[in-house]
Order: sequence, then C-alpha cells, then structure tokens
Amino acid sequence: MANQSFIPPQRILMGPGPSDVSPRVLEAVGRPTIGHLDPAFVGMMDDMKSLLQYAFKTDNALTFPVSAPGSAGMETCFANLVEPGDKVIICQNGVFGGRMKENVIRGGATPVMVEDEWGKVVDPGKLEDALKANPDAKIVAFVHAETSTGAQSDAQTLVKLAHQYDCLTIVDAVTSLGGSPLKVDEWEIDAIYSGTQKCLSSPPGLSPVSFNEHAAEVIKSRKTPVQSWFLDLNLVMGYWGSGAKRAYHHTAPINNLYGLHEALVILKEEGLENSWARHEAMHQALRAGFEAMGLSFVVKEGDRLPQLNAVTIPDGIDDAEVRGKLLNDYNLEIGAGLGALAGKVWRVGLMGHAANRHNVVYCLSALETVLSQLGAGIEKGVAVEAAMAKL
Ligand SMILES: *Cc1c(COP(=O)(O)O)cnc(C)c1O
Repeated sequence: MANQSFIPPQRILMGPGPSDVSPRVLEAVGRPTIGHLDPAFVGMMDDMKSLLQYAFKTDNALTFPVSAPGSAGMETCFANLVEPGDKVIICQNGVFGGRMKENVIRGGATPVMVEDEWGKVVDPGKLEDALKANPDAKIVAFVHAETSTGAQSDAQTLVKLAHQYDCLTIVDAVTSLGGSPLKVDEWEIDAIYSGTQKCLSSPPGLSPVSFNEHAAEVIKSRKTPVQSWFLDLNLVMGYWGSGAKRAYHHTAPINNLYGLHEALVILKEEGLENSWARHEAMHQALRAGFEAMGLSFVVKEGDRLPQLNAVTIPDGIDDAEVRGKLLNDYNLEIGAGLGALAGKVWRVGLMGHAANRHNVVYCLSALETVLSQLGAGIEKGVAVEAAMAKL
C-alpha cells in the first residue's frame, strides 16, 4: 500500500459534503493542464463568470470563484468588508456562525452575537432587537443553509431588515447554492460566498463569491488595507476582473476550475429551478422513508433544507458503529452530528449529483438493514416502500 498509487474506493457520498462528483466533472478535471494566462483558459474564465451569475441569479460583475474552499470565501467576505473597529452583527444557529465570529475578532472588529438554538432558523425579531440596540453596526452576517442542523433561514427577510438599519449583508450560501432557492439580486444580498463540493457536486477547493456594487464601493473606500494579501479583492480583480489584463496574481487551480465549469454547465442544462425541484422531491421521498422507519427530524417542517436531512439516532444505537457499517459494508457515507448534536443525530445529504432516486432507496435500505442487525426496534421494509410511493 505504502508509496504506491492511491486508488480511492468507490463511495456513495450522502453526508454534509463533499457530495458525489459526476463522471462528466471528473473527466473534465483530467483534461490537459494549460497556462492560466493562455487565451483559451481566459475564455473559459469569462464563461465561468456568466455561469456563476446564472447560479447565483445575479448580474454582479464581481462574481468569481476564490481559489480555495468555502471557508476562504467566508474569509474573503469578512477580510474585505470589515475594518478594525467595525461592529458586525452575526446571527448564529449552528457551527458556521461561530466561524464568522472568529473572522470578525481576528479582523480587529467587534462581533455582536444573535443566538438561536441549534436546529432553529434565525429569528428576524432577535435580529431587529440587535439592530435597534446597535445603531453603529456596519454589517449583518448569517448562514442561509446551516449544514450542521439542516435549518434554512429566511435570507430575504433578514437582508431586508439589515438594510432598513443601513447595514451591509454577508450571506453564507455554501450549502444552498444550486440546491434550494437563492436569488442574490432579487433578495438584494450584498456579499455572498459558496462552495463547490455541496450542491454543485464539483471537487472541493473553490469558493464562488459575489459582491454587489454597494459592497464593491465599501471595499474600494477602505481606510485600511485588507490584512490578507491573498484574499485582497483589489488585487484579485486584476486577474478575475472584467476587462482586466489578467495580470499574474496567483496560479489558478486550473484543473479544478475545469471541474467547476463542467458542473455549472450541467446545472444550466438541467435548469436551476429544476435542480431546486429535484432536491425537494428527493427530500420528500427520503423523509417519507425516515418517518416510516420511526426516525424524526431535528428541524421542524417548513424550515428544513432538502439537501441536508438531520434525523435523531434511535435510543441504544451507537452512532459510530452504524456509520462504520454503512461505509464498510455498503460504501455509503452519511454524516455525524456536530457540536451539541454530536452522537445524537445523523446528517444525510442529498446534494447535487447525489440527490437522485437510486441514492434515496439505497440509503434507506442499507440503514434499515444495519439498524435491524443492531437490534433497533424498527419495522423492516416500510421505509423503502414509503419512499417509493413518493417517487
Ligand atoms: C461546508 C460549509 C462551509 C465551509 O466550506 P469548506 O469548503 O469546508 O471550507 C461553510 N459554511 C457552510 C454552511 C458549510 O456547509
């Protein structure tokens, strides 16, 4: 094994990401590497921008993929928009709001936390209280699709509120982009970041971002330089900017960009709204199966993300043992709970290419088999039948 070619096992990825990558995208990643200033590559970059604008539903000129995973998209937003001494309101209802707080503190600014219970959506009433109590706040940040719990907050309402109090907005759409309704221009989101390995089903390592003119203006009129050289948009734009001379900034992850481009072409072929509808339909089938099996959802109906299904683990069942059996005996990956939910829930993803009928049925039958082997009191056969009835 050691020092030989690494041949990964063939898995089915139904966790919180990465999701299954389609053979078309994998084939694209394997195409010949060319120079990152090659005119052919630059042409692909322009097309990539228009595809990302399509996926985000935006006309923002400042739309491109940051050369690093979703967390770097988050840092790009905070590092460029926040200056030392600023006050930033962060709505936290899971793991990822905690990372936003870290970004604000490390940028020398002051976070004001608006906390909601894990599994709940962000409460607009609490945000409004915080906006009233902090008239000097400059930015409101929140997670649209909280992958740690499967809760989907009302981004449009939260952004509207923030604007009423003259705050800019930073929205985490790592798990929502491509999987559930997201309308950057219509909802007037100022700055947004996402990832490739969730509902876009491209390999991890890139973070699509988009900034409207208001956000771009704030970046241009900063009093202090952006503390990160790599993520400073004033510099990155020399490479990705429209009409830019494509000056060297860093060597783009060329082959990974081929993959994202192909994934976006696939999304456009299917149609964005059709992709949202497919995620919802697969969720409804999976949900029927889970409920027939007696598993209950962490998030209440109406607030659930179709692409991330957090369900409670039956009493007396060992979390790690079940996930281990699924992986080893069925090549199936599902996710563990995080933080307060560790050991209590499973997180089953239906993201991008992985949101299909085969996966829904396969996951339910494998889980049902493993659970009955381990003595969970579940009725066998009912889950798949309930899901099939929805398909
Ligand atoms: C996965 C995820 C991130 C981080 O993305 P990475 O690509 O792992 O860096 C951030 N926010 C949310 C909501 C996520 O689901």
